[in-house]
Amino acid sequence: MNEANFDLVVVGGGAAGFNAALSCRARYPEKRVVLVDQEPEVGYYRTLLPMFMAGKLPEEKLFFWRPGEGMGLEVRTNVKVRSLDRQAKRLTLESGETLGYQCLILAPGGRPVVPPVFERSVTPDGVFPVRSLGVAREIKAWLLAHRDIVVLGGGLVGSKTSVFLRLAGFSVTLVEREAHILPTVLSANTARPLQRHLENMGVRVCTGTTIDRFKADAAGAVKAVRLATGEWVPCGTFLVGIGSTPDVGFIRETDLMRDGELVVSTTLQTVDPAIFAIGDAVAIQTPDGARAHPWTWPQAVAQGKLAGTNAFSASPRPLKRTTRVNAQNISGVPLMILGGPGVGSSIEARPGPGEGVWREFFLDDSRIVGGALVGDIAGAGPLHFTMANAEDVSQRVAGLLAPRTRAFRPSTWTRLGQSYRARNFAVKESTPC
Ligand SMILES: Cc1cc2nc3c(=O)[nH]c(=O)nc-3n(C[C@H](O)[C@H](O)[C@H](O)COP(=O)(O)OP(=O)(O)OC[C@H]3O[C@@H](n4cnc5c(N)ncnc54)[C@H](O)[C@@H]3O)c2cc1C
Repeated sequence: MNEANFDLVVVGGGAAGFNAALSCRARYPEKRVVLVDQEPEVGYYRTLLPMFMAGKLPEEKLFFWRPGEGMGLEVRTNVKVRSLDRQAKRLTLESGETLGYQCLILAPGGRPVVPPVFERSVTPDGVFPVRSLGVAREIKAWLLAHRDIVVLGGGLVGSKTSVFLRLAGFSVTLVEREAHILPTVLSANTARPLQRHLENMGVRVCTGTTIDRFKADAAGAVKAVRLATGEWVPCGTFLVGIGSTPDVGFIRETDLMRDGELVVSTTLQTVDPAIFAIGDAVAIQTPDGARAHPWTWPQAVAQGKLAGTNAFSASPRPLKRTTRVNAQNISGVPLMILGGPGVGSSIEARPGPGEGVWREFFLDDSRIVGGALVGDIAGAGPLHFTMANAEDVSQRVAGLLAPRTRAFRPSTWTRLGQSYRARNFAVKESTPC
């Protein structure tokens, strides 16, 4: 059996793992670092996959790193880790090869959640999760001949996917189980104008329902899906973006898990100080005992950088913030997500000026725990710090909520949507659900 030994092994070459490997190389150039990933490529922006699938971004623009670009990184792709032996400090790969380590960083991210309807039967062709570049390439090729699309999941992945595919002229129906899109990060009031914006673009948005059946054609390709309302929606492509679940199967037999989760301290160490874990795979135990799940791109990058420098440090530093801040532009509408509501938090919101602007906070004990700025995201940076520093805002709520710009007048979004539609594709009205 082949065996190789490294100072640091990083499992997973997504935003978290890649940044961990790079920052370790920069901080400890003498250390031997290897990054392994089961995908054929690493170093690409997962967040841009919807744009790529829609043909709005050439493939080469997806990559922020290419093999041979140096940085002293040893990268092994198409390599899946099968198991971890903590006592021996050794990983076993699917190939049977083993990798010994002094320090290990786990960054396996998440794998897509499969809708129950496909757990019960054979998945037809034309059904894809939106997650990896390999599958995004398949989707792009499939879409050439299957232009009627149903997207399941109105979170960030599903909403972005719907917008870019619609902008590229596809017929898109977006199905969300909850009462409004982006349900984990926006209140109903904030989501409503955004949802209207999607509808103005011609995306048919069906909320409060899900898919309970599908039909396949004689060749075994999906041809329609049934909403829980009983309506059949014809489609040649069915895209799934209903979230991900930590991809931690290979460590399930170890005792790194706590209540089914891969829990780390704020220094990103597991119960084994030689093993760090970061990104979409982990829950971070904060000093107050709560568990944070900040599964976003900016967090994956920040955690990766910190884990890489902490790896061989005698006094590892804690992560400064576990917030889920995220900036987006949904086809002309700026959106700043500060984080979803916590249990028992209250909503402070200020609409306007104009129907396209909404600013809201989720407050817990006079502290901002989340919120969103829609249409007008000016002042988002200081707001983020106010939230991250857990400042008492009881006397400042009105000022913080006040809009900074007056650029958006009523119906601006409607006009934005109309002009996009006029510019980008033949008008095809969306039918309400
Ligand atoms: C389409 C899409 C759009 C998104 N848009 C946004 C956005 O706009 N803003 C935002 O903040 N977030 C967005 N996200 C989420 C964001 O991409 C993730 O939070 C981030 O990529 C997590 O990084 P990660 O490194 O933890 O995990 P990943 O990027 O999932 O990387 C994990 C890697 O580990 C590999 N791996 C797993 N198990 C093994 C194993 N056993 N052996 C070897 N390799 C393994 C996987 O193949 C994968 O390459 C989006 C996600 C998707 C899918």
